[in-house]
Amino acid sequence: MLKDTTAALVANIEAGKYKNIVITTHHKPDGDAMGSSLGLWGFLQKRMESVTVVTPTDYSENLFWLPGNERVIEWERNESVARKVVEKADLVFCLDFNRLSRINQMGEFIAQMSCDKVMIDHHLDPEGFENFTFWNSRASSTCELVYRWIEHYFGSSHINPETATCLYTGLMTDTGNFQHNNTTPDTLRLAADLMELGADHLDIHAKIYDVFSVSRSRLFGYCLYKKMEIIPECRTALIYLTADELKEFDVKTGDTEGLVNFGLGLKDIVLSVLIIDRTERVKMSFRSKGDFAVNEFSGKYFHGGGHKNAAGGQSEDTLENAVNLFKEKIQLYKDELQAI
Ligand code: 5GP
Ligand code: MN
Repeated sequence: MLKDTTAALVANIEAGKYKNIVITTHHKPDGDAMGSSLGLWGFLQKRMESVTVVTPTDYSENLFWLPGNERVIEWERNESVARKVVEKADLVFCLDFNRLSRINQMGEFIAQMSCDKVMIDHHLDPEGFENFTFWNSRASSTCELVYRWIEHYFGSSHINPETATCLYTGLMTDTGNFQHNNTTPDTLRLAADLMELGADHLDIHAKIYDVFSVSRSRLFGYCLYKKMEIIPECRTALIYLTADELKEFDVKTGDTEGLVNFGLGLKDIVLSVLIIDRTERVKMSFRSKGDFAVNEFSGKYFHGGGHKNAAGGQSEDTLENAVNLFKEKIQLYKDELQAI
């Protein structure tokens, strides 16, 4: 259900209370994170003096074409500039995440700031760091929530083709092209509305999905041929990648996106896991079918979270130990996974 405490925020915006606005989103932002941030940016910058999108880290090149991308500041790459911009902010929008740990060092910085903070998000278990909330765990995407927020408080006629394009992008990527179970009749109606507002669905699809490098395709082939393990008693598919393999295939940010879905496409498999040695930490991706809540599993063993059927997590341990821990713990859920 929607939790909305932003009426007072909108009153403040209308009264001209805020001069410097920052929009931020989670570590290694995906299509929904960048689409919602740049979609909101496109809307706000028409009515506010200074609005800046600051991401904690870099992101996939297939998002660079999004309208407004050239103005984004990356904290990790440009920390002194990013710090100055964030420090000055009297309002920070936090999109597509609900725990400050999801934005790394920037989270610690924002936690001690006394400015107003808004969270617009659709993940479970919000930590409650913000003072204004627009949250619905049933929403397909944060892009959908940004649309609903603008529609409700300002009217959808204020959404221009650039913002519609950004919002359509996140709607498309977070629903896996309208295939996941977060796709509802309302999601499809929203996609239609965004098309009418100027989003070109063919162009967006091509810019997001028809731009992969040869090495990325070879990586996928290698993973499926050589690396995928099946744990039949747990109806689980597992792929893990070492730092050397990432180097061998020249893996760039975003290149492994979608890889975890292949396991789930297998008959009888209900859980797919991808574990990657990102050097600074081991990163996990979980996808499930039916009632196996991967956000809970990941929260319990891998400091993670997300959605019931799509979640992530991490480990400070070695890749080998993280893989072994996963293999050990998943055995505890054998009966549950068999029953799906
Ligand atoms: P992915 O596997 O694509 O990285 O993430 C799947 C979903 O889980 C996304 O909605 C993402 O925001 C969330 N997620 C990924 N990693 C983490 C994590 O470490 N912590 C939490 N709380 N959520 C995560
Ligand atoms: Mn999202």
